Amino acid sequence: MTKFEIVMGTIVVFAASNVFGLIYSYFALYSSIFKRFRIQEKPYVKGIFRKRFPLYLLNVFLVIGLAAGSLYILEDLLDTSFPSIWVLLGQLVFIFLIDDVWFYFAHRWMHENKWALKNIHSIHHRATTPFPMEYLYVHPLEWMIGMIGIAIGVALIFIVMPVNIYVIWLMGLIRNLHEIHIHSDLDIPGLNWIPFMSSTKNHDVHHAKLNGNYASFFSIWDKVMKTEYNEHAK
Ligand SMILES: [Zn+2]
Ligand SMILES: [Zn+2]
Repeated sequence: MTKFEIVMGTIVVFAASNVFGLIYSYFALYSSIFKRFRIQEKPYVKGIFRKRFPLYLLNVFLVIGLAAGSLYILEDLLDTSFPSIWVLLGQLVFIFLIDDVWFYFAHRWMHENKWALKNIHSIHHRATTPFPMEYLYVHPLEWMIGMIGIAIGVALIFIVMPVNIYVIWLMGLIRNLHEIHIHSDLDIPGLNWIPFMSSTKNHDVHHAKLNGNYASFFSIWDKVMKTEYNEHAK
């Protein structure tokens, strides 16, 4: 695989997932097909989609630039052959778990550290009634901090073997789709089937109440660390 193909593949993965996020947002906001699945009763603020768009677009371009640029530089170290199922699953699950744990602690830190909350994370929490694309309605530093989890997972694998490019693409795709899903404010039956997978409601409550529920994929981290949303806490 050439460097050009690595860059193009990365652009396709990130662009496709974000185009999906845009279309999903459009239908969540402006059509009635998802209305019966909505978690919150509060109506969306008028013109919110247009208002959110510039920061969303900036982040999409920055994410694509940083991801494609990093993989371009790392090309020599990557395994670009089509992976066996064991390499694919082994590396994917490993990076995924490290990223999910990292997300929990980084997210919790952005709430407990007053400076980080005020200067970085508060932008994302302007979304009290989230819709799918608000997953990327964040200060650019926030998703950069979020990417450190994936970087740690990738770096640890590099110690023993090359990381497969298809694993990185699949990881990027799953992560984006999951983030789009938990910001959708829609509880669509059948989408929360993996054990301990956090429901849309989990993160929705986090946005609505700003209290607990810091986990992204596995809600078990909040259970273990005793940071689940508690309606009696202030
Ligand atoms: Zn938060
Ligand atoms: Zn969020």
